[in-house]
Amino acid sequence: MSASEGTPKSTGTKAVPAQSQTSDSSTQPASHFIHDIIDEDRRAGKNGGRVHTRFPPEPNGYLHIGHAKSICLNFGTAKKYGGLCNLRFDDTNPTTENPEYVASIQNDVRWLGFEWDDRLFYASDYFEKLYQFAEHLIETDKAYVDSQTHEQISAQRGDFYRPGQDSPDRTRAKEESRALFRRMRAGEFPDGAHVLRAKIDMRSGNLNLRDPVIYRIKRAHHYRTADSWCIYPMYDYAHCVSDALEGITHSLCTLEFEDHRPLYDWCLDQLPVPCHPQQIEFARLNLSYTVLSKRKLLQLVEDKLVDGWDDPRMPTLAGLRRRGYTPEAIRAFCDRVGVGKRDGVVDVSLLEYHLREDLNARAARAMAVLRPLRVVIENFSEGEVLWCEAQNHPEYPERGSRKVPFGRVVYIEQDDFREVPPKKWFRLTVGSEVRLRYACLIRCHAVVKDPATGEVTELRCTWDPDSRGGSPKDGRKVKGTLHWVSAEHAKDAEVRLYDRLFSQENPNDGDDFKSFLNQSSLQVLRGCKVEPALAASQPAELYQFERLGYFCGDNKDLRDGKLVFNRTIELRDSWAKIEGRQQGES
Ligand code: ATP
Ligand code: MG
Repeated sequence: MSASEGTPKSTGTKAVPAQSQTSDSSTQPASHFIHDIIDEDRRAGKNGGRVHTRFPPEPNGYLHIGHAKSICLNFGTAKKYGGLCNLRFDDTNPTTENPEYVASIQNDVRWLGFEWDDRLFYASDYFEKLYQFAEHLIETDKAYVDSQTHEQISAQRGDFYRPGQDSPDRTRAKEESRALFRRMRAGEFPDGAHVLRAKIDMRSGNLNLRDPVIYRIKRAHHYRTADSWCIYPMYDYAHCVSDALEGITHSLCTLEFEDHRPLYDWCLDQLPVPCHPQQIEFARLNLSYTVLSKRKLLQLVEDKLVDGWDDPRMPTLAGLRRRGYTPEAIRAFCDRVGVGKRDGVVDVSLLEYHLREDLNARAARAMAVLRPLRVVIENFSEGEVLWCEAQNHPEYPERGSRKVPFGRVVYIEQDDFREVPPKKWFRLTVGSEVRLRYACLIRCHAVVKDPATGEVTELRCTWDPDSRGGSPKDGRKVKGTLHWVSAEHAKDAEVRLYDRLFSQENPNDGDDFKSFLNQSSLQVLRGCKVEPALAASQPAELYQFERLGYFCGDNKDLRDGKLVFNRTIELRDSWAKIEGRQQGES
């Protein structure tokens, strides 16, 4: 039997969906302006030709697909140039960070296929050094303690059109600033009483250079340093110093930090740090129908609108993994998206395309019936079993085959039968003949209905014993091919069908992203029937359920003999397409 009969193949030769972000949709690898810069640096002998990058997540949430782009870029760039990439937790904000996030981030980076060896760092390990460097800034008259309120400081900052005003404390003697800063550290003042500010230029056209705050008092328990500190450095100050302390050569970050680069450079220019890394900005990944902000994802989790950070509808790496995404698919997607300088939105179907490409080659075929309809084969003896040879993968015969039992009672999909069929219906109806994949031809004679509801509860059919394996001896053509499972041998399973979490293409447009949640993004089907071989399924094991799509064993709930599968993604050819194809053939 040819695999194209009734079982659409996903061969991966179809067009790649367009993406609105980067320019090229050809098969050429996307251009890479960062690698161009590094090539130039190496030609010029900068950093002795060394390439050292870092991935610097803040442990305040789980990683998402946007972070995957940054991970692939940072670790991938190091690998390309025979360099190194550090994993550094940017943990300078104690109120939002915790060890659960630290553990999940390490797990996710490894899962994606990257390794930091012994280069695991924490910005919090540099708190003492950062403090000493801050004293150095005070000593060299490049920083001062400002005792104004937060509101006063903001009011003096000016805006894009108006220059800022100097703080009355800007001329404070450095001895006085140093003494105050030490007392800040010693915990002598309440939160907000003083801040340490860099002394740069209140009239700068770049607001980030208008004497930015670099330390604030914050009595908060830090998950690593506990209560040893009550002052914490600000991101812009901590980040560049951390990069320099680690000998980073190229500090890759997203575009919103472009205006912060002068501050990055200013800090490093004032301090006796071992090196001066180069900050390079790239466009962050945005995906249609998807929210990629940890703050928003946290809201979904906290409001219990999803089943945790690893809900299979979440764009987190933990969610994608549970859904059945593979690291290979995600890496291929990140490669394809490339790295650009302009923000845009990538069509989520590009991610799905790479998923299907990977799963098509990877996933073993199996048969499962999601909404079972009982079919009794009247001329098939009770207790008899026909063992059918089923291929594990139509494109890779070397992956072998398995024996699937066929008996007098089988299940097919309710959708595969219509009492009143539309035109060109090649599936089952009363009087029609179809092929049960790998098994035989059957013909339907009658239906049994629930007398109360009129619902069809059973089909009465006969089989043609001369069609074992699916090909009739007389060579007659039968167009429809259905998947099925034997009632006696089938295993019960729960199957979870997922749809996009948001029904709006850009859920970030508007006041409340949660109002765009797709109310039917999860459908749980209980009482599904799967072929007996699936009883041995493992969590995360991937299948293509014939004609239905790609599925995987749920990595949490498939256990203790309970079978739970997640639909990873539908086949490209949906039901509608199958009908279209059959019409085309007739
Ligand atoms: P979010 O906006 O989701 O809270 P973040 O930028 O605050 O993310 P970090 O933990 O600071 O999260 O991110 C770690 C690294 O990942 C940073 O270098 C950041 O630039 C990068 N990153 C975060 N989101 C994206 C994205 N959507 N596309 C590409 N890189 C990203
Ligand atoms: Mg950040």
